Amino acid sequence: MSFDITEHPHRRLNILTGEWIQVSPHRAKRPWQGQEEQPSEIEIPSYDPTCYLCPGNLRSTGERNPAYENTFSFVNDFSALVGHVPTGSVTEDGLLVAKSERGICKVICFSPDHRLTIAEMEVDAIVRVVEEWQHEFSALSKVPFIHHVQIFENKGAVMGCSNPHPHGQIWAQESIPVEPWKKHVHQHDFYFKNHRTLLEDYLALELKKNQRIVFQNHYFVCLVPFWATWPFETMIIPRRPMDTILRMSTPEVQAFAEAYKTIAVKYDNLFKTSFPYSAGIHQAPTDGKPHPEWHWHMSFYPPLLRSAKVKKFMVGYELLANPQRDIAAEFSAEKLRTLPDLHYKQQ
Ligand SMILES: [Zn+2]
Repeated sequence: MSFDITEHPHRRLNILTGEWIQVSPHRAKRPWQGQEEQPSEIEIPSYDPTCYLCPGNLRSTGERNPAYENTFSFVNDFSALVGHVPTGSVTEDGLLVAKSERGICKVICFSPDHRLTIAEMEVDAIVRVVEEWQHEFSALSKVPFIHHVQIFENKGAVMGCSNPHPHGQIWAQESIPVEPWKKHVHQHDFYFKNHRTLLEDYLALELKKNQRIVFQNHYFVCLVPFWATWPFETMIIPRRPMDTILRMSTPEVQAFAEAYKTIAVKYDNLFKTSFPYSAGIHQAPTDGKPHPEWHWHMSFYPPLLRSAKVKKFMVGYELLANPQRDIAAEFSAEKLRTLPDLHYKQQ
């Protein structure tokens, strides 16, 4: 009997972070146990007078939101990082080490319509979101002390997002945070050995194997990465290497908006529920240096496992030793691939 990754427990390497994920495919040798919830959507209004993100509403700071028609960005009223702090560091015998950290946190409203999500927004409206991200990324990257800009979306109460109004956040800061730093190191090493980006080669191999591709358009590919940790984790990867989202052409922005919507629709269709996730864009540091090694991409980390209610927890062995999964990445990709591109509410 020889080793077979579709049958035998094994570890897979995340080539972007250098970390391993333990996979136990023998534990998932059962029929699909997913459950679709009866669509029992609570009717959310298009405008909520108590929502601090709706147009025209007053926020806790006393500022009033404009009557915006597309997107709206503002500095987070409860920013975790701020720009005007004294800088310095503390070291005691190399044992107690701390450094000051400056940053800027922003909130981006995706739409004035309180009840929408990316899955239900029109592609043209999502193009406005991507353009707003480009605008913010460009402006924040010009701030001298900002060296990294993290764009992300936290969707759903299960992800700790308390407000259903469609929105995302940007945390821009002085140092490069832990996750993008790991990806920086591995992409850098690969590029200087091979003169191609790591994701360029990875994407070519995935397209050739065609086992984990969820969908693709002219400029982007959405796949379940070989090393996926969350049950239905995906990545949207641009076909051509680009260090940041500012490199996108107009057709690429359009295609990216389409891809973002398509994966959001497929996620909602999976359990016929508004599917929660944390999603974010990893791109080159904004340190003023060239970064040909960086190939930006968007990662989606959704916690749902088998239904709208059954969630994967990173506890026990996973918290203490190593992340682990039972459903193979290939199975997840197949499941997502076969789901319709039309939202279940419109079917
Ligand atoms: Zn709202």
